[in-house]
Amino acid sequence: MASAWFGPCPHCKTPLSYLEGVTGSRVNPLCPSCRVVITTSRATFLMPDHSRPSPRTKSETTAR
Ligand SMILES: [Zn+2]
Repeated sequence: MASAWFGPCPHCKTPLSYLEGVTGSRVNPLCPSCRVVITTSRATFLMPDHSRPSPRTKSETTAR
């Protein structure tokens, strides 16, 4: 059964979506940002989490 949760990459802190039990998931997925293996207890597929804009992006937009 597929499930998903959100959390930062333990290496580069990029917001990621952890999709468990989906097609292509594995227990040692690569971070899509820093390409470092993230070991998980369940088969997981990693995706960049673009659903939550970071405060830094917002401040840069304001500065411009
Ligand atoms: Zn990373």
